[in-house]
Amino acid sequence: MPAEQINKGDREIVIQQFLNRDSFFSKRRILIISLVLIGGIFCLNIYSDYNNTVKREQERLLNKTKILQKNIEQNLIATRDVLVDLRKYVPRYTAGQDLIDRLQILTNALPGVRTIGITDASGIWLASNRVELIGKNFGYRDYFNVPKHHPDEKILYLTPPYITSLGVNTLGISVVIIGPKGEFSGVITAALEPNYFTPLLDSVLHAGDMWVGIAHWDGIIYMIRPEMEKLSGNTIQSDSFFYQHKGSGKEYSVFSGTANATGDDRLIVLSTISPSGLNIPAPLVVAASRNRSSLLTKWRNDSIKIISLYVFLALISVIGFNTFQRRQRRYIRKAAEAAEALLITQNKIIESEKKYRDLYQGSRDGYVMVDMAGVILEYNSAYKLMLGYTDDELVLKTYADLTPVKWHAMEKEIVENQVIPHYYSSIYEKEYIRKDGKVFPVELRAHLVRDENDLPQYMWAFVRDITERKLNEKKIAKFTAELERSNNELDSFAYIASHDLKEPLRGIYNYSYFLLEDNADRLDDSGKEKLNTLVYLTKRMEGLINDLLKFSRISRVAFEMKEIKIDDVVKESLAILQITLEKGNVKVDIPRPLPAVECDNYQIAEVFQNLISNAVKYNDKAEKRIEINYMEDTKTANKYIFYVRDNGIGIDEKYFDSIFTIFKRLHARDKFGGGTGAGLTIVKKIIERHGGKIWLESTPEEGTVFYFTLQGE
Ligand code: ADP
Repeated sequence: MPAEQINKGDREIVIQQFLNRDSFFSKRRILIISLVLIGGIFCLNIYSDYNNTVKREQERLLNKTKILQKNIEQNLIATRDVLVDLRKYVPRYTAGQDLIDRLQILTNALPGVRTIGITDASGIWLASNRVELIGKNFGYRDYFNVPKHHPDEKILYLTPPYITSLGVNTLGISVVIIGPKGEFSGVITAALEPNYFTPLLDSVLHAGDMWVGIAHWDGIIYMIRPEMEKLSGNTIQSDSFFYQHKGSGKEYSVFSGTANATGDDRLIVLSTISPSGLNIPAPLVVAASRNRSSLLTKWRNDSIKIISLYVFLALISVIGFNTFQRRQRRYIRKAAEAAEALLITQNKIIESEKKYRDLYQGSRDGYVMVDMAGVILEYNSAYKLMLGYTDDELVLKTYADLTPVKWHAMEKEIVENQVIPHYYSSIYEKEYIRKDGKVFPVELRAHLVRDENDLPQYMWAFVRDITERKLNEKKIAKFTAELERSNNELDSFAYIASHDLKEPLRGIYNYSYFLLEDNADRLDDSGKEKLNTLVYLTKRMEGLINDLLKFSRISRVAFEMKEIKIDDVVKESLAILQITLEKGNVKVDIPRPLPAVECDNYQIAEVFQNLISNAVKYNDKAEKRIEINYMEDTKTANKYIFYVRDNGIGIDEKYFDSIFTIFKRLHARDKFGGGTGAGLTIVKKIIERHGGKIWLESTPEEGTVFYFTLQGE
């Protein structure tokens, strides 16, 4: 397809194809995959952070529950030991002050126990560190009732929470006393000290949203920290995590979800307190919990930061990539356009080269290229044809070999003084020798080509065979010489003839005139009329001869060329023609002073007089107008075109040439004041001798303008 025919649409398709190539496609794919991978890594990171946070918190909560568990276990073991120990000695003690003191000491030693009491088989307190309780019957309490109905010395009875008669929230721990006959004889019981557990639980709280609690196996909450209204002493709902833990039979359980007690989303760790060696059918359960939303606050904030960072990165990458691709696209488009332009240029060069090669080969002029030693390197067929050599013969020659010796010095001088310093020579002539030995004239101009270092590299020249032109020139010179000679002869003949004719003509005139004067009475009317016609004809012939003389004299006399103010010449001419002008009622207009030019004063006056008198003569208007003016010739500096315009009868275009022929008139002899028909011929000759030319524009009935110049082109 020619380059010019690649339209915009085609170019777009090419660019799109280029842009959609694998490399581009895969770049975009790599970006997307990278973004997805980075996104995946970020998600993984967020997910593992989430897991770590939850796991860490789980472990923490587990540790806290273990601390509580261990503590409470220690307490339970110590209390059990004390109670079992007391049981050993119960028979030996009497319920006196000693026992009270002993119980007092023991409760003081057990920080988790606020009260120890010993009952009889009916539930009446026999002894206690709190004397105000002695003698009271608490047979309805679980710590008494449960062991009473299931007496087993090995069991440590743990009651659900209850409020003591002193208004204290507590739990009861009991062991049974079996009498000598194996009968139930009462219980030794200890009430737990809530003031001991409160700081214990508080000590493990590490976050504002955290709570820890202790509940009895039966599902009643003993204590929860921080204190929550109406929770302590409450029964735990059967569908809660507590019961799930209880049902699982595991020591520890971890749950997350909505906590029944608080109604929020929580992470809960539950742990059963059942120390080995203690036989507690209904043990305690400790729980530690955190609000999941709060514990994930940091993770959430971090995640938002990471996601924001990722989004930012992704945006930057996508925008960056798009910008990069757009720029790439632009570059490619430019490159495509440049390539296209290059292709077009190349094609143009090829076409132009072909054109010039055709021109070069088809040229009738010879073309030759030589190196600086003159050895022929390249030439066209016209050159070869001109010299008659074959290709093999020509390449071995220098241009000097082909040139007659008489031209060598001149040509060497042209190369040295013109071609090398000025890069080309003027057109010069010399001769060539054909293979057949014939010498013929040529005209040529040599050019120089320099290399990138400005050193002369080779020369080339167009060589024209001017044999024919030389012959023509010779012929023309011969014709011109002949013409000049015959013109001169003609001029001399006209001059001599008119000069010599004047004499006998004057005689004829004189004798005719005398005949009329002297013999008027002897001549009849017909004779007089004939003689009058003879006088008139001789007068007329004299006029013709005078004009012929004037005409022939123009080329014979030497012109006196000097700077003449045309304005003065015109004014003089008008003065000479004054009577004619006045008689003819002619209005002459010279709008501006006419310039000075180099000319012959006398001859130019002749020109103006002729043109002005013709303008008056060939004018039938009542008001005759003549304008004498000039124009500046735009083609040549200081050259003026003078003109004389009239509003006369005009001239038909077909006579534009013939009016300059001598004795040629367009009208009857006596019409328009008569005339010889030589005026314009003389004007033309004068102007041409000045090197100028004359021409006219005319519209019949409207008027004529005669233009003339006085200098050559
Ligand atoms: P002549 O005036 O003696 O006849 P010219 O050589 O001066 O001869 O003019 C030749 C002819 O050109 C004239 O016969 C006339 O017909 C025509 N001619 C010259 N000047 C004018 C002009 N201004 N207007 C019209 N015709 C003209």
